[in-house]
Amino acid sequence: MGFCYLNSVAVAVLEAMSRGIKKVAVFDFDVHHGNGTEDILVDVHNCAYFSVHQYPAYPGTGTSSYSNVHNYPVPPYAPRDIYRGALAAALDDLKHSQPSLIGVSAGFDPYRGDPLSAAALEKEDFRWLGESLRAFGVPVFTILEGGYSEDLPDLILAYLSGLAGQ
Ligand SMILES: [Zn+2]
Repeated sequence: MGFCYLNSVAVAVLEAMSRGIKKVAVFDFDVHHGNGTEDILVDVHNCAYFSVHQYPAYPGTGTSSYSNVHNYPVPPYAPRDIYRGALAAALDDLKHSQPSLIGVSAGFDPYRGDPLSAAALEKEDFRWLGESLRAFGVPVFTILEGGYSEDLPDLILAYLSGLAGQ
């Protein structure tokens, strides 16, 4: 199941590890749980997966954490500060995993104006996500994975501006 034929972020971090990167993390802020990424990366040594997503929602997975998988489900219609709190908790746990490379599954569908979710993030929150990832001081790469509102270009720009420190 899922929407992708090739799981780009998982392929990329596994390739990076095969080329000598010691520790990797995937941070997934798409509003839908990354069930495919979790299936591929679970139990991979020196790799950790962090997903903040709405639950219940498609695909109906991601309710618990185990092994190197860290899931942060947020209920539909949760207030913005609750969603931000889950993201902050995930980022804090990611920091403790001390990766030397972070792959980001960037879904802009937890935006309050997104037609596919019942989440409450604002544009500024995507800038904050970029800034927070930048603050780790390790290489970060980002793959666009979702976002269905007409504001998508502005949300991406806010995220990239934060990531670039601008
Ligand atoms: Zn999504």
